[in-house]
Amino acid sequence: MTRTIAFDKRSRQQTHFTTCYMCACRCGIKVTIESNKVRFIQGNLNHPVNKGVLCAKGSAGIMKQYSAAKLKKPLMRRPGSERGAADFVEIEWDDALDIVAARLAKIRSTNPTQLAFFTGRDQMQALSGLWAQQFGTPNWAAHGGFCSVNMAVAGLYTIGYSFWEFGAPDWDHAKYFLLWGVAEDHSSNPIKIGLEKLKRRGAKFVSINPVRTGYSAIADEWLPIRPGTDGLLALAIVHVLLKRGLIDWEFLIRYTNAPWLVVQTPGIAGDGLFARDGQDNPLVWDQQAQKVVNGLQPEIAPALFATVRLDDGRFARSVFALATERYLDDRYSPEHVAAECGVAAETITRIAHEMAHVAFNQAVELPIRWTDMHGRTHDKVVGRPVAMYAMRGISAHSNGFHTCRALHLIQMLLGALDGPGNFRARAPYPRRIPMRSLPENDPAVIFAPDTPLKRMPNGNPTRPEDLVIDKNGKPMRIDKAYSWEAPLSPHGLMHMVITNAANGDPYPIDTLLLFMANMAWNSTMNTAEVREMLVRKDEHGEYAIPFLVVVDAFHSETVNFADLVLPDTTYLERYDAISLLDRPISEPDAAGDAIRHPVLELDRDVRPWQDVLVELASRLKFPAFTAADGSPKFSDYKDFIVNYEKFPGIGFLAGWRGVDGKSSLRGAPNPKQWEKYIENQSFFSYRWPDNMRYYKFANKDYLEFAEKNALFGTPPAAVIMQMYSEPLQKFRLAGQGLYDGPQPSSATDRERLAKYFDPLPFWYEPLESARISRTEFPLHAITQRPMMMYHSWDSQNAWLRQIISENFLYMNRGTAARLGLADFDWVWVESHHGRLRCQLKTMEGCEANTVWTWNAVGRQAGTAGLNNDASEATAGFLLNHLISELLPHSRGEDRRLTNSDPVTGQAAWFDLRVKVSKCAPGETGIWPRFAAAERLPGDDGRRPATWRYHTVPAS
Ligand code: SF4
Repeated sequence: MTRTIAFDKRSRQQTHFTTCYMCACRCGIKVTIESNKVRFIQGNLNHPVNKGVLCAKGSAGIMKQYSAAKLKKPLMRRPGSERGAADFVEIEWDDALDIVAARLAKIRSTNPTQLAFFTGRDQMQALSGLWAQQFGTPNWAAHGGFCSVNMAVAGLYTIGYSFWEFGAPDWDHAKYFLLWGVAEDHSSNPIKIGLEKLKRRGAKFVSINPVRTGYSAIADEWLPIRPGTDGLLALAIVHVLLKRGLIDWEFLIRYTNAPWLVVQTPGIAGDGLFARDGQDNPLVWDQQAQKVVNGLQPEIAPALFATVRLDDGRFARSVFALATERYLDDRYSPEHVAAECGVAAETITRIAHEMAHVAFNQAVELPIRWTDMHGRTHDKVVGRPVAMYAMRGISAHSNGFHTCRALHLIQMLLGALDGPGNFRARAPYPRRIPMRSLPENDPAVIFAPDTPLKRMPNGNPTRPEDLVIDKNGKPMRIDKAYSWEAPLSPHGLMHMVITNAANGDPYPIDTLLLFMANMAWNSTMNTAEVREMLVRKDEHGEYAIPFLVVVDAFHSETVNFADLVLPDTTYLERYDAISLLDRPISEPDAAGDAIRHPVLELDRDVRPWQDVLVELASRLKFPAFTAADGSPKFSDYKDFIVNYEKFPGIGFLAGWRGVDGKSSLRGAPNPKQWEKYIENQSFFSYRWPDNMRYYKFANKDYLEFAEKNALFGTPPAAVIMQMYSEPLQKFRLAGQGLYDGPQPSSATDRERLAKYFDPLPFWYEPLESARISRTEFPLHAITQRPMMMYHSWDSQNAWLRQIISENFLYMNRGTAARLGLADFDWVWVESHHGRLRCQLKTMEGCEANTVWTWNAVGRQAGTAGLNNDASEATAGFLLNHLISELLPHSRGEDRRLTNSDPVTGQAAWFDLRVKVSKCAPGETGIWPRFAAAERLPGDDGRRPATWRYHTVPAS
């Protein structure tokens, strides 16, 4: 029988280059379309991110496009129905926009803080932040507060760039690579491509992770660390390096604040701040001149170890003297930390020696001339080829900020930053480290009706005066970001928004606008109670959160709670700018950004959320979106991207600027900019000349270029790495009652600031763990996403579901035997907060005191376009039920505190401790389970038994 492939008529096919959105990596893809259907997706060979590599998720984008969970039309909760019942009626877009615009106009003209606008893992935060700023609400943030803000803030305040999206390992030169707490879904294709390069070159790859899956499975050495103790391990490595003098002394003197003098006046205001001259320059002890001098001058010989009496009689010690005193203490010795970390002392010592050996005996020298910030020209760059990368295993602990600073401390000691073989910065980083309050960098604090915020809602505080609190010290944001409870929280505390709003603490709000955030399911802690909060009513029968708008492309659990649903498009149906103003696709050797553009025509009544934001901004007459005559400045998002300028010549896209399209990075708007991107396969890359590639933090040519092109947004300056953080010390002084400015009135806040705002990295037991009994809850519990799934969206993806559609609790085989547990046993997992029932599986590659599971595989029946008896709903579970967004109450505290890092407000997902016990005979089945959600209008709930796409018809 002859078979013809009816669908595969090449003459009817078109190919389009665009950007993948199946995870955060932003790989280039080539999409083949036939009759407005996706034929297949391939990797783009020319793309700087993935160089043609396409992962399982990326190719399964096709089944996201054809998901049964796609929303099809705006929905309004049926009048008289209860919120959460998913009883919706379809409405027209004009009506939906009238409803939301009228509501927002009223809020904006009375009290703009009544709007809370929070977004999930979107790639358009520059636009949504601008929108919130123009609206006039401080209540805006994206998902970073429950993702990786610890790393973002620790990196920015320490080295001027950070792990994850603002830096990358130098895969081409690294000879020793440590991967700290990176789950297998993170930075997917770039890490896989990089590891392949390392392996081919014979570099050593060490994975530090309680679970050996994904990348860790191919590590040369796996350190099964106990969760939450990475900082202790890092500081033990610091101990060894200091003890053996395995230090890049020159790097410390030239590029860090290790020689800066710190005032020592315990118990007196000013203690712990840098000694400065009359021009505010930090002082150092010059060994040649034998006197205290301005430490920013070039031709001096600063002492790393110094204790001096200043002209005003105060004593001061150098940062490095303080650091060595702390880290040489026996409490950070490998022998002392080994039991807590679960890593043998000899192993810690060996790893430290191996790193130092590679750094100092296998240095990489490249014949590249460059000029440092003092104008000195060097005829080569020298790299200490030890690289690191880190992610949520570090970040999602309440001690993650200091842990991340500890990793950067190792990098400083080895001189292994932004040179060949190191962890390197990606544009627009490095940025000036927040040291001094700068109006453009402080978070907004003044809110007025019908008025944009003077600054962005988020910023980088450097002192207590920068907090977003009122004159009584009360938080002014709904998530309490930038309050005494979480002072350095530029990504907000999204995990607290619903709890705070439902409790009217610090104040009630009117409208909660959620975009692409599944806060009624996997993106929230304490899922069951948060769902209750979303429907909570006051004594008058009114919802505690009066109006909930949900914007999503798919039928998530959160959609069911909406009063108004605005359906978004998929990533193949809209324009997107992956911008240098946000999270671009830069690589260490090139600045880069990218676009998406519609490769499919819409087949349902949905609109790109960006277009809706621009339209609402026009209707509400935001100044930045309104022309002088009152007409809309931009017709839609596409027009906005071309014509909006943040600063003169700086827009969302950096390529093909200028009226002739010949300028890069900076230039006038180019009306043909989208066309140029599409011609260039949807990305732009600006490669640094050799002299600007390395040591960007101190590279004169790079710094001047960056300033000219507003990559920093602040004047040019060298980025002096901050081993010792003065902003932290200012908050600590406030806690100690020694700060000459705002101080907290609550003893609880004072104690937290005094303890956790240590200007040098330190380790403390994660907050939740420290408050509950280790005997009662002996195991740590963590999660990760599978390599082939990134968003919770993917559990609706017919192809990816074939790889995984249910989850188990994984436990070390020896631990299971000790507890009398075996594969497929039903077990109760209990925390101080709740309990759940699931099935157990055992494995070797799991730290003995840790259990873990896949996150967000389990779904509520009736959502995500799945059949009610889909295994995601019947055999999938969420660990979130066991995690509280609040810490257990501690005696003496005046309130329940957020379960977050006390410095940054990062959600402490991984501080969870549990006990696991075997279920009684007959106790089986996933628990808790929720009633199946109602089907949405137009969805009869019927699904084919087997999803088929592009089957080959016989002829
Ligand atoms: S790694 Fe992420 S962005 Fe790249 S192809 Fe896979 S899913 Fe797409």
